Amino acid sequence: MSLRLKDVVKEYPDFKLKIDLQVNKGELVTILGPSGCGKTTTLRVIAGFITPDNGNIFVSGRGINHLPPHKRQIGIVFQDYALFPNLNVLDNIAFGLKMHGVKRILREAKARKLLKLVHLTEYGGRKISQLSGGEQQRVALARALATEPRLLLLDEPLSALDAKLRKGLRNEIRRIQRELAITTLYITHDQEEALALSDRIAVMRNGKIEQAGRPQEIYNEPVNLFVAGFVGQANFLKGTIRSIEQGYALFNTALGDIRAPAPRGCYPGREMNLFFRPENCTIKSSTAAENKGNYIQGVVAGCEYLGEIMQLEVVSRDSRFILRLRGCPAIADGNRIVFSIKAENCRLLPATG
Ligand code: ATP
Repeated sequence: MSLRLKDVVKEYPDFKLKIDLQVNKGELVTILGPSGCGKTTTLRVIAGFITPDNGNIFVSGRGINHLPPHKRQIGIVFQDYALFPNLNVLDNIAFGLKMHGVKRILREAKARKLLKLVHLTEYGGRKISQLSGGEQQRVALARALATEPRLLLLDEPLSALDAKLRKGLRNEIRRIQRELAITTLYITHDQEEALALSDRIAVMRNGKIEQAGRPQEIYNEPVNLFVAGFVGQANFLKGTIRSIEQGYALFNTALGDIRAPAPRGCYPGREMNLFFRPENCTIKSSTAAENKGNYIQGVVAGCEYLGEIMQLEVVSRDSRFILRLRGCPAIADGNRIVFSIKAENCRLLPATG
């Protein structure tokens, strides 16, 4: 089943959601955005808990705006599990089936199958209070899947769990989603989670989707400063296009000229922002190469050993950069260094947004 939100609008006194989104059959799409950007509102509109002011929601091409929540055949997993504490694990999972009038023997068989799917085979008789947070979320997932929904919506399902558990469970969610090939919309404000899980990510800000694309596209080809800064760590440097030649722009900055692929719509004199990732920087041992382009000279203002990589903070005039380097020895604060960024790893983004 595919999901399509077409020009869906929901307005509150201080907030406007205006969204267009397609989730293809069997795809896992993440809505990623900061707190208050409209993620939960979007999910609630799809589920039917909120009526949009405008626009249409389609499942496999059929409008569902007129359907009440319980007729939409959507499975939902919430952040806080929302399990029934008075029922045991098996009855929690079978609850939806009971509401649909499925016979006890059949619903129990189905619930046991789902327990196996979420790797909790032995837990059917347990009380909810006897489960860890991660186990409760597995039960919530099994419960959401019990009625064989057409779509699965997950609203920050891992945010109540600790970091290690989050990683394990997100892989589980991905495995189950793939196994069932269920069309899924996943909401999170955690960029690492979105990158790891998604077929596609829709980055949201102020009620709008800024960019939707595969994780690599979002990470390597962000369309604006917001997306670049929200997904992963980013370095920025303001400047002006000096010239364009053979698809590359020479970008004039306060720290020297930098060569970068010329984006569409760039022209000499245009103010833009250079963007590059910390892991795409290389330290140069000699300063001889500086001023040849794509070299930045600065002073180390912090050095952190992060296991496989060394993270440096480098200050150059008014700019501050983060470098993530493999196999780099520690460098004391105050040392002058020169680092380079390959032209193909540089991106020029609009100066605003
Ligand atoms: P978080 O990550 O913090 O959960 P979110 O991205 O899910 O945030 P929403 O819960 O969708 O954000 O809220 C989006 C905006 O809409 C917020 O500014 C919120 O205050 C506002 N909002 C949500 N529900 C209502 C309501 N019933 N009445 C008025 N404003 C609302």
